[in-house]
Amino acid sequence: NQSLAELDPEIAAVLSQELGRQRGTLEMIASENFAPRAVMEAQGSVLTNKYAEGYPGRRYYGGCEYVDIAEQLAIDRVKALFGAEYANVQPHSGAQANAAALSAMITPGDKILGLSLAHGGHLTHGMKLNFSGKLYKVAAYQVEPDNFRVDMDKLREQAIAEKPQVIIAGWSAYPRHLDFAAFRSIADEVGALLWTDMAHFAGLVAADLHPSPVPYSDVVTSTVHKTLAGPRSGVILAKQEWAKKINSNVFPGQQGGPLMHVIAAKAVAFKIAGTEEFKERQERVLEGAKIIADRLNQSDVAEAGVSVLTGGTDVHLVLVDLRNSQLDGQQAEDLLHSVGITVNRNAVPFDPRPPMVTSGLRIGTPALATRGFGAEEFTEVAEIIATALKAGSATDVDALQSRVDKLAADFPLYPQHEQW
Ligand code: PLP
Repeated sequence: NQSLAELDPEIAAVLSQELGRQRGTLEMIASENFAPRAVMEAQGSVLTNKYAEGYPGRRYYGGCEYVDIAEQLAIDRVKALFGAEYANVQPHSGAQANAAALSAMITPGDKILGLSLAHGGHLTHGMKLNFSGKLYKVAAYQVEPDNFRVDMDKLREQAIAEKPQVIIAGWSAYPRHLDFAAFRSIADEVGALLWTDMAHFAGLVAADLHPSPVPYSDVVTSTVHKTLAGPRSGVILAKQEWAKKINSNVFPGQQGGPLMHVIAAKAVAFKIAGTEEFKERQERVLEGAKIIADRLNQSDVAEAGVSVLTGGTDVHLVLVDLRNSQLDGQQAEDLLHSVGITVNRNAVPFDPRPPMVTSGLRIGTPALATRGFGAEEFTEVAEIIATALKAGSATDVDALQSRVDKLAADFPLYPQHEQW
């Protein structure tokens, strides 16, 4: 019954160093967030001990009477949150949700049509080294070279030519709303199913601040840990007619025993996502992203060869185009890291540089909004980023680092914990 610190001081040190890093820096990776204390409590609980293969009321193990309650709560809450007819809350991750969803919808050898990885799509939407690219034939659509948006007329022509069995709406790096009604009508026209992967923007949908794909899509998948701020995991929503197929493609199709501690934590996250406080936070997410886009659109930044893809954002992230800047994506990521801001480099569409270097940055606001940042703080963050991207290697790192330190100190993270 030793504590972690007593039993394994090396891992205890990692936890406390990571907590220090999260507290002392500004987290702006668009796919990250800070799970609230209640979510962490559910996830770090005795539910991790329980095997519960099967579904509530129909398990292959005894002793599931309490974990059944947790899973049913998670299902009921996420259905209510998104107005879905059916939910499966067992996927261990977004990628596993996507694997199960695709295997429920189509068979290997069928064709999928999703946004190209190089243009903002996800690995699971048909990348050649991923299961999706290995099992299925892949056609990819792209954004337009002039405005970096998906052109729905072109997508329609491509869908008619390619005749995919599944059309995928959704992205990992795209700063605008997708037209789900248009996706639906194209899918209907070519006899395809419509799968939306709302992993990134699910929190905005939950808060009614982003169009919902649920009414238009046959199947919707999501992660729970990005804008939704829950435990690292996935979820599948669908029309009721998909229930049996999706259930059996998650378990036993893709997974064994569900992670009941994570499922309980999902239930908590879905409860929080239905509150006014959550909605107010998502409003600050959007406000912050707009403030950053507006600042990086100004002429002093443009003169340094830095621009904002699509000229702005409708969501929680800003894509920065560095193709004409003195910095490449790797250098810009490293520079911001040196002042205490964590972002990730990201290929821009038609990127001339290799994927390990890239010519872009993806900057997201969800984690800082969770931390409590509002317009004033995001304005200061935007100024710090703009100053660094303009100055490049001549950046006064110490000066910017102390401005970051002040913001971090003003918004304590997990204040109730000595270490975690
Ligand atoms: N789908 C999209 C659109 C994503 O952006 C991601 C994660 O980056 C995933 C799925 C996969 O989620 P996970 O990392 O939980 O497998």
